[in-house]
Amino acid sequence: MTEDFTEVNERYTLPEAIREAQRCLHCKVPSCKKGCPINNDIPDWIAELAKGNFGNAMAIINERSNLPAVCGRVCGHERQCEGNCVLAKKGQHINIGRLERFVADFDSDADLTHEAIPQKNRGRVAVIGSGPAGLTIAGDLSRQGFAVEIFEMEPEPGGVLMYGIPEYRLPKEVVRREIKKIENLGVIFHLNTTIGENITVDDLFAKGFDAVFMGTGTGVPNRLDIPGINHPAVRQAIRFLRRVSLFESGWMSRDEVIVGNGDIVFVIGCGNTAIDAARTALRMGSKEVNVIYHRTVDNMNALRSEYEEAVKEGVNFFWNTSLVSIQAQDSERIKDVTLNIDGEDKVLPADHVVMAIGSAPAARIISSTEGIEVDDRGYVLTRDNPYGMSSRKGVFAGGDVTNRPATVVHAMRDAKLVAEGIARYVDAVKLMESINGEKINN
Ligand code: SF4
Repeated sequence: MTEDFTEVNERYTLPEAIREAQRCLHCKVPSCKKGCPINNDIPDWIAELAKGNFGNAMAIINERSNLPAVCGRVCGHERQCEGNCVLAKKGQHINIGRLERFVADFDSDADLTHEAIPQKNRGRVAVIGSGPAGLTIAGDLSRQGFAVEIFEMEPEPGGVLMYGIPEYRLPKEVVRREIKKIENLGVIFHLNTTIGENITVDDLFAKGFDAVFMGTGTGVPNRLDIPGINHPAVRQAIRFLRRVSLFESGWMSRDEVIVGNGDIVFVIGCGNTAIDAARTALRMGSKEVNVIYHRTVDNMNALRSEYEEAVKEGVNFFWNTSLVSIQAQDSERIKDVTLNIDGEDKVLPADHVVMAIGSAPAARIISSTEGIEVDDRGYVLTRDNPYGMSSRKGVFAGGDVTNRPATVVHAMRDAKLVAEGIARYVDAVKLMESINGEKINN
């Protein structure tokens, strides 16, 4: 399967989608909706889809989600809407994720729905980072009449959607399409722009922004303190996945991805990022990929469906196993790894170790901005009123940088609340300015 990143899950045909939608019972108290972190009106849009009213279905989804084609593909449906569907008890839950994906793709292909660009007269908001949290804030606030500009350090927007989730799960063209819709709401994107380096938060306020949102995620990987961990052939999963994305988009050469043809790879950790890294390493031509996890299959953070796909593709899993040490062949290559399997040490040959044990926020913005408090691990501290505001007036934070959400849709749910907090804050500031007749400085 070398370098075949074709999307794994197939899309419904139109008759299949309508038939699936017609199975929905349109429950009076829909448990699927309760299971959805952003409270999507699932039975309502499924009912429209069942009647063939695609535009209406899309309009209902758009009321709660800025990224339906993304959510339809990468949300943890088995733990959320589908897991809560009343038909799940009989093992026949409605395939809500695939239906959402169908509606979003059908809408884009047919160019069906066009949202009006709202008047931008409520204030200016700068959004740092264009992952799911930043895009949600931008979409929600733009629809409510705020002028929003996004500042992104990478050459393309999308954050983890573009550089973290592999192509076979979430094609880049789908992410680009969703971002285009947000751009069509009047949101301005500044790419290759790193806040804290090219420009600071204070510069943004000096340019006239009323509020700043930090949705910068977690870019600094956690580290294990074991012998050999600093060898150059030990990779970080988030950086490996980013390199593969840059290679696929033509921004990086194949050689720079490094992991690949004929290699034996050990991935440490068992969340969704670990599974993504393992399946990607296979696609880059690795001969053997092993996932090492210190607990059991029932304790892993990864979605069961992702794990099952990885097993089908040939990834090996070592449970109750921890990495003890990494032995080098020379300054460039690893020779082998020592694992502790069920209490016994074992040495196995290895070419690469890929660490996927979580990450923490980078300090770039905090160190260049006065007054933003963080906890002892570097996560930004925020308050509940207005929701998401940091200790610095007018600076809000959400997504992974606050350590609240764990998945794309949870980042979106949190961001929707922060968007409400920002709107309330900016409205209050504008009111005070109109009463006092002068601009309030943040
Ligand atoms: Fe339809 Fe299942 Fe939701 Fe009931 S719980 S409305 S059957 S998707």
